[in-house]
Amino acid sequence: MSLVDSAIARFLPAVPKPLVRRISERYIAGEELDDALRVVHRLNRDGKLATLDVLGEEVTDPDEAAAIAASYRDAIDAFARGRLDSNVSIKPTALGLMLGYDVCRGNLESVVRHAAERGNFVRIDMEDSTTTDETLRLYRELREDGFENVGVVLQACLRRTIEDVRALAALRPNVRICKGIYLERPEIAFRDFEAVRASFVQALGDLLDNGCYVGIATHDEWLLQEGKRLVAEHELAGDEYEFQMLLGVRPALGDALVREGHRLRIYTPFGQHWYSYSLRRLQENPRIAGYIAADTVNRLLPGRNGDS
Ligand SMILES: Cc1cc2nc3c(=O)[nH]c(=O)nc-3n(C[C@H](O)[C@H](O)[C@H](O)COP(=O)(O)OP(=O)(O)OC[C@H]3O[C@@H](n4cnc5c(N)ncnc54)[C@H](O)[C@@H]3O)c2cc1C
Repeated sequence: MSLVDSAIARFLPAVPKPLVRRISERYIAGEELDDALRVVHRLNRDGKLATLDVLGEEVTDPDEAAAIAASYRDAIDAFARGRLDSNVSIKPTALGLMLGYDVCRGNLESVVRHAAERGNFVRIDMEDSTTTDETLRLYRELREDGFENVGVVLQACLRRTIEDVRALAALRPNVRICKGIYLERPEIAFRDFEAVRASFVQALGDLLDNGCYVGIATHDEWLLQEGKRLVAEHELAGDEYEFQMLLGVRPALGDALVREGHRLRIYTPFGQHWYSYSLRRLQENPRIAGYIAADTVNRLLPGRNGDS
């Protein structure tokens, strides 16, 4: 992380809220479900799928965790009513993991069951490494209870990930593979950029070898090429894998994937907690603050679209 990035991250809480909102606008679909549904509709019209994230994490109030679960069930109903092509992505700590495993398990199962009854799918996001074991346990238990409409995330930055791929193989899991957003200790995580890329490629290759459906979640052009290479090598049809990107990040790369005929799903966060979410995300990973600063400068300069 550069000194400039750290300085930007430290400075963020001093940035006026309306400015943070303006900076975050392209990355967040709004405060209300209707705002998010409009964004999903637009994405679908442009040939993209969505996965909706109700903002909220590290929830410590059981009522709030239950309310977030209810918001997810409402969103799933709204997709069915509006014939929208979107599933949901859920952070275990938003459904109460910090209140106890069983609280989270109960809330999560209510959403997964609701989705199953409506032919929809739930992705369990992966948070920092203190939650990895419990998150994988949630996934495993739901699968063992017969839910097929649930998937999990593995983070290439974690040294354990290749072993997790092996341990999960018998379940033929539906996995999103990503680099991992959380800053982890070097004893458990690769810090070197190329090592994370190599781990990503290895995990993706192993997952595809095991016949898994994989969501290849990255904006890294080199990894996108590697993803395309591996998908071609495995002779996968268009509906046997997908690429995934974050709302507002490198949209031209996403458009190119769609033009080439790949399935692309856009991670679409929305909700009241946009401010704390934005600050936390930006501070947790100061590199993102760097991207955003660079992107904002790019957009202010004539002739640049911020997507380079
Ligand atoms: C659909 C999706 C779901 C994810 N789910 C999880 C999850 O469950 N758990 C988890 O730990 N991580 C998750 N992540 C985040 C992921 O782990 C990475 O931190 C993030 O995607 C950046 O890695 P990258 O592969 O895009 O490569 P990088 O090398 O980090 O980024 C490549 C380029 O993309 C641009 N870029 C990337 N991210 C941003 C951003 N946020 N804002 C602006 N520009 C950006 C920059 O131009 C950068 O140079 C998810 C990412 C995606 C796309």
